[in-house]
Amino acid sequence: MAIIPITVYGDKILREKTKTVKQIDGILIKNIKDMFDTMRNANGIGLAANQVGLNKSVFVVDLKEVEGYENFKPVVMINPKIAEVSDENVIIEEGCLSLPNLRAEVERPKKILVEYIDTDEKENSLEADDLFARVILHEYDHLIGKMIPDRVSSEMKKKLQEELLQIKNRDVKVDYLITSKE
Ligand code: ZN
Repeated sequence: MAIIPITVYGDKILREKTKTVKQIDGILIKNIKDMFDTMRNANGIGLAANQVGLNKSVFVVDLKEVEGYENFKPVVMINPKIAEVSDENVIIEEGCLSLPNLRAEVERPKKILVEYIDTDEKENSLEADDLFARVILHEYDHLIGKMIPDRVSSEMKKKLQEELLQIKNRDVKVDYLITSKE
């Protein structure tokens, strides 16, 4: 089991668009395993590769620990694309392992169609709604260099400024491993 320090707000890699995965090799499979270990160790339900310092278009999701999702099968999405979104939006409070202790309400589509490649190099498409859609959209955002503060009103973003600065300065209490300041 390998736990990798999680990148936090201020780390440059979180602002970069991740690179398309060209080859699903042993290194990538090991990366994915480490991502699951790191996510579960931090009690997360989703984690993108750039949150463990990897510039690769891949994220993992596991909702098993969430009430009502006990039968959820962990998912790996490589080179995902959001193909369709519903007209209906919902506002849900979100957190992020790269924004320790911060919570903010974010409006996003209720339902989505996502296309991706799985670890068997098979092309897949999947319809997701509610929490699952929410986590996919959040993780997809990471892969294009976006985070919660980019998805809230400018008024809300102002309110978050102080907390964001504290995170950037590691002036926060976190019970999992994070990167040290760049
Ligand atoms: Zn996040």
